[in-house]
This record gives sequence, structure tokens and C-alpha cells, in this order.
Amino acid sequence: MYKILPISIYLRVLIRNKKLNILFDNPNLGIWSANIQDDKVICTSKGVEYITGYKKECFNGAQQWASIILNEDMHLFYNNQRKLKSGQNISQQYRIKHKSGKLKWIKDYTIPTFDHLGNIIRLDGIISDITEQKLLEDQLNFLANYDSLTKLPNRKKFIEELEQLIQSYAKSNEHFAVIKLDIDNFKYINDTLGNEIGDELLQKYPNRIKKHLASQDIIARRSGDGFAILIKQIESFDALIEKVKNIYECLKAPFIIKEYKLYVTTSFGISTFPENGFTSSEILRNARLALSIAEKEGKDNFHLLSPSSSHESYKQYCIGRDLKKALEDNEMTLYFQPRICTKTNKIIGAEALIRWNHPVWGIIPPNEFLPLAEENGLITEIDYWVLNVACQQINRWKQKGLRVVPISINISGVQLIKPDWIHKVEKVLHDANIKPSELEMEITEHILLNDSEMVKQSLTKLKALGIKLALDDFGTGYSSLSYLSQYPFDIIKIDRAFIRNMDNSKRELHLIKSIIYMIRGLNLRVVAEGVETMKQLHILQQEQCHEIQGYLFSKPTPAKEFEILLQNNILTPSLPNYKDQF
Ligand code: C2E
Ligand code: MG
Ligand code: MG
Repeated sequence: MYKILPISIYLRVLIRNKKLNILFDNPNLGIWSANIQDDKVICTSKGVEYITGYKKECFNGAQQWASIILNEDMHLFYNNQRKLKSGQNISQQYRIKHKSGKLKWIKDYTIPTFDHLGNIIRLDGIISDITEQKLLEDQLNFLANYDSLTKLPNRKKFIEELEQLIQSYAKSNEHFAVIKLDIDNFKYINDTLGNEIGDELLQKYPNRIKKHLASQDIIARRSGDGFAILIKQIESFDALIEKVKNIYECLKAPFIIKEYKLYVTTSFGISTFPENGFTSSEILRNARLALSIAEKEGKDNFHLLSPSSSHESYKQYCIGRDLKKALEDNEMTLYFQPRICTKTNKIIGAEALIRWNHPVWGIIPPNEFLPLAEENGLITEIDYWVLNVACQQINRWKQKGLRVVPISINISGVQLIKPDWIHKVEKVLHDANIKPSELEMEITEHILLNDSEMVKQSLTKLKALGIKLALDDFGTGYSSLSYLSQYPFDIIKIDRAFIRNMDNSKRELHLIKSIIYMIRGLNLRVVAEGVETMKQLHILQQEQCHEIQGYLFSKPTPAKEFEILLQNNILTPSLPNYKDQF
């Protein structure tokens, strides 16, 4: 009768002929053959001994092999045994306990042989040690899904978990909550005490929170100082609030890091499923919205987006939803606010400020929609739109024979790390036929905080093109005087918060005088923003602040009205009408 030779016997024949002894002696590859009918191992190669740590005599039959497989992986192994009986070759991966006690991942490829009655009579197989490959896979998986500093799930992993939960709750009445948290003063701690202290705080902070979470709940690191929690089961809103209160309270005690006692405050934004959305992006957006409300209400605070969303939160929701369409539908427009020379009251420049004329909500100021645009990436399109429209407007005024003054546009930080921004600017200037000296760009201090070489290079290139650069909102961020000399600014705009307090606080007055003196000393132009009173104007004139921008001279106005101001050339101060601020 025709008899099939087991692989091992066949191999042995070849080995005897010295043809395949490299394979049979290879320590990384174990070849084996077992007789199923009398449960006897026919042969094992050296590799089996090396990979398992056991001599071949230890493996009499299937039972001994199964005894070294890790309990957790046993079900895999047995499931596959069934497949073998049905005639399939199998390739499986599982863990074994090496004789030394170490765990090893192995890949096991097994081929069954049957007799003419269809009974399985023998198994032949090859095993290989894939522990290192598995370790590498684990590391890659960790890097893709976890934050290396805190070892917490990252944003991607958090969203995956959220989506899974939404799927499993789709047909049930279960509720869950997403909480977004921001450490309010983290940047300040990081900047003043250094990254090392900041890093340690970021590690200790979630550990405290974890003590108040159920084992199935998840805390993830969303961004620098932002965390997110997924509370997988909530019994009632009261219970949820209670839980948040406990977390809020536990963060109040100081964090002891090195010699520092750090008090941090946290803002929380909470949204729940299904009340605040059915998709992960809706739930996350609403948690962010709740967070921004909490921050607006004075930080160190929490806000739960209630099912009966207030008018304000509903508006915010619509803004986020309609933003992309707004650009396409021409709902955005630019207003212009003049900058006045303090000596002559002449208009010597203007700032272009974006407005959104929403079909339902009317004029929406930028502070209400730009943070959302920054979050969903639309800010790039918005900045590009502003650049184009401002340049075309300058060109139109020139064509009309008006005296044009430089127009400044505000740009967000993302542009400065995009290699194509400079080329886009050059092209827009060229297409609109305007000179670089007719355009200025304003950036805020926080963009400089990362001290990125790329930002520095972009600013240098813009300056080399001939565009003047202004540092906006000076004094609101983490003002480092070194920015003034490190970066190629021409103009410093002092934030209106300083100007506002100038007439009722001696300290602020002194501060503002020193700031103006210092900026002038560096040969930079100084602009005071938000000037609203004659008293402020007089002080600024006295201190030889070069330019003024504020409601005292003009609020931001549509292009048509700005044209009239340009024609008048000189403006007279008049007290602002607060009813109509835009
Ligand atoms: P900013 O660049 O500091 O602009 C000055 C803001 O102060 C404007 O608010 C202006 O309307 C307001 N303002 C001017 N004078 C006075 C005053 O006397 N009193 C008071 N209370 N406010 C005054 P707005 O237009 O709401 O813009 C807010 C911020 O939004 C801007 O601050 C700027 O950072 C950003 N922004 C505005 N337009 C754009 C834009 O087109 N692109 C980008 N990326 N950001 C923009
Ligand atoms: Mg500005
Ligand atoms: Mg400003």
C-alpha cells in the first residue's frame, strides 16, 4: 500500500545525505512529527529543544506539549486542533513557558495527514520563536495608541474606545459621559519651573483622578495639558456630578514636586451620550464646548452640557456645524479698524478683522468661532481667505485712487509652520498687484512659546519679502521680553487689557509707561489697542506711544465705511457707542 512518509522521516533521509542538516540543526526553527494513533512524538529537531528549553525526551505526546502552553492561550490552541481534524493546515501563534520560566511567543505551523478512511494519523509541524517580533509589535502598538510620558491612552485610542462604546450602546438605554479637562495654569508652571517639573505634574495629575474612576473607565491624554475621561456607565446626572465633584476636589490639594508645592486648577467640560450627540465627534465637540463655557465662567470650574442646552450652547453648536459652509457661502466678511498717529490723528494703518454674518445668528465676532476653526483645522482656510480678500480690497482702493494705508491681517500659528505659506503669500500679493509694504501681519505671543525654529524662519522670510510684522496682544501671554529682540518684529501692539486698567491703577500706569519706553528703546513701533477714553489717549500721547487703535477713534467698520474714513484722513476722538461695537 502507498504510504506517506512523515516530513521528519523524509527530512532525516535528506539529513543522512547531509542535504538538509542546516535546517534540522537550526536552533530557531523546530521541526516535529507526532503519531496521533498511539500519541507518540516521532521526532523533534534541535530547534524544538532550543525554543522550549526541554529535551526531546520530555515530549512523549500531545499532553506534554499542551502543558507548556500558557493557560490564557489554551482555548486558541484547542480551537485550532478542531480545524486540523477537519483537514485544514493551521498556522497559529501562542505563548509557551520556556523551561527557564520565561514566556515565549511561538508561531506553530501544523499539517495533518489522514489514512484512507479519513482518520487523522499524524501531525507534522514547524515552530519558530517570534518573541522579539511580538515585542516590537507591542512597542509599535503602544507608540501609536498611548502617550509615552503618562502611559495613558492617547487621543486616537480614546476616540476608538468612544466609538466602540457608542456602537455597543446604540440599541440600549445606557448613558455615558465624556469629560474634557484642562489644567488652567499648566503653561505657566512649565514656562517658569521648567519642563521637568511640568512633566512630573502631568504624570501625577491623572494618577489622582484614577482613584475616583471605575475600572472600566478610561482617562486619556488629549494634548499638552488636556486630559479626557470616559465614564462608561452613569446611573443618573446627579451621580455623575457627584463623581466630577470628587475629582475636582481631589485635584485641589497641592502636588509636591521636588521642592515645589504646586496648586493647580482645572476646568471641566462634560457631555453625555445620547443627550449631547450620537457620534464621537458630536460628543467630543460638545464636551469641548462645555469646557470653553467653564473656562469663560472663570476657569477652575465645571460645566455640564444639559440636555436642554441653553441658548448660548445651542448657538455654539450651530457655529461649529456651519463654519465650513460659511466660507463656501460667502458669509464671511472683513471689517477694518483704523490705526491713528498719536501726534497728527491721521489714519496710518488699519487692521482687517473677520466677521461672520450668520443667516440665523447675525454678526458673529471672531472670538466665538476662531477657537472652533483652530480645533477642526479650518483656520488655515480662513487665514488664506482673509489674505486674499484683504489684498483684493487694497487693490480696489488703489484703483479708486484712494490714499492706501498698510492693512494688517491676523494670522494663526499653523501658517508659520507650513512650508507653503510664504509662496501662497507671494502669489496672492502678485495676483492682487499690491506691494508687500502695503500688507502687515499680526501674530500673538502664544505662537512663539514653543520657540520653534520653523516659526522663526517663516517670520524672517516674510520680513525679507518686505511685509511688516506685528506682535499682537503684547502682555497677555507669557510675555518674555526676549521675544522682542529674538524675532524680527517691526510693531508691538499692547493689549487692551493693559490700556483698560491704566487710568485706575497706578501700578498698571507705571507698567505701561515702562513698556512703551522699552519698545521705543528697541526702535520698534508701539501701538496701543483698545483705547476708549480721552484720559487714556492723553497719557499715551504724553508717553509718545506711536499709534492708537480703539473705539475712541473708530470701531471696526465695513470696507465701504472705512473708505469714507480714509477719505477724511484725519479722525477726531469721540466716545464709543457700546450698543454697536462691531
Ligand atoms: P486682535 O487682533 O487683538 O484685534 C483687536 C480686537 O479688539 C478686535 O476684536 C477689535 O474689535 C477689538 N477692539 C478694538 N478696539 C477696541 C476698543 O476700544 N474696545 C474694545 N473693547 N475692543 C476693541 P475682534 O474683531 O472681536 O477680534 C478678536 C480677535 O480675533 C483679534 O484680536 C484676533 O486675534 C482675532 N481675529 C480677528 N480677525 C481675525 C482674522 O481675520 N484671522 C485671524 N486668524 N484672527 C482674527
Ligand atoms: Mg490683531
Ligand atoms: Mg490685539
